[in-house]
Amino acid sequence: MRMKKIYLGTNWKMHKNLADTKLYLQTLNEYIIDVDFEKVAIFVIPPYTSLSTVKKALKNSKLLYGAQNMHWQDEGAFTGEISPKMLKDFDIDLIELGHSERRQYYNENDIDLNRKVKAALKHNFTPLICVGEKEEDKKYGIGPEVIRKQLKIILHGVDGNALANLWIAYEPVWAIGEDGKPATPDYVKMIHGIIRDTIGELYNEEIAKEVPILYGGSVNENNAYLFLREENVNGLFIGRAAWEPKSFSRIIHQMIETFC
Ligand code: PEP
Repeated sequence: MRMKKIYLGTNWKMHKNLADTKLYLQTLNEYIIDVDFEKVAIFVIPPYTSLSTVKKALKNSKLLYGAQNMHWQDEGAFTGEISPKMLKDFDIDLIELGHSERRQYYNENDIDLNRKVKAALKHNFTPLICVGEKEEDKKYGIGPEVIRKQLKIILHGVDGNALANLWIAYEPVWAIGEDGKPATPDYVKMIHGIIRDTIGELYNEEIAKEVPILYGGSVNENNAYLFLREENVNGLFIGRAAWEPKSFSRIIHQMIETFC
């Protein structure tokens, strides 16, 4: 069964200054002027430094936006961190949590993510939770176990009602970035099924079927439809191929024409 909406978005990582941000949003808005936002949720996740500019630029837009990380505390002695209370000022819709680069370079772990998810929900942000196994996990055939473990810890103690406001992105670490190789659509389908089933076991099927599950990892204009047509793939979380607004808008239009 296909969800009513598809979800298409991008994380800019540590790219784009304020001038780049303005130009990107202006161009993207022009290219997607005819899009029916009842059918598609489109989102951008810029660096913190762009959030004020994004807030202004998207004042009358249906584009969603978010931040790439946040601390779970409202304030405190945590130099270099940004709190949910601070992010409130920017009216963000989404908070991306657990990207593999955060786990790899900044030792972010599932227990911290569990705290962050609860904080995000408390502040009415939609957490976009990234899960994904490493190359080595795949080699030994334990991808499904890794994903199940991540979900069980990250969602521990999260109320079932809150899942109506929570998205998951499956981003296998070996598929992401310049050195990444996209997963096969069959593999994505298998893991997305496991994600859906795990949420079903932790809560129930009704709750599980409403959670959007996005795939991310070397998605581009040529392969996007191969993932989105698979069962339990409700959207795409795109890096490099969406950092140029024309290319992102081509993917958006292609997906709408094919699936909506
Ligand atoms: C990512 O880093 O989350 C990602 C999906 O990147 P890319 O599409 O460039 O592989």
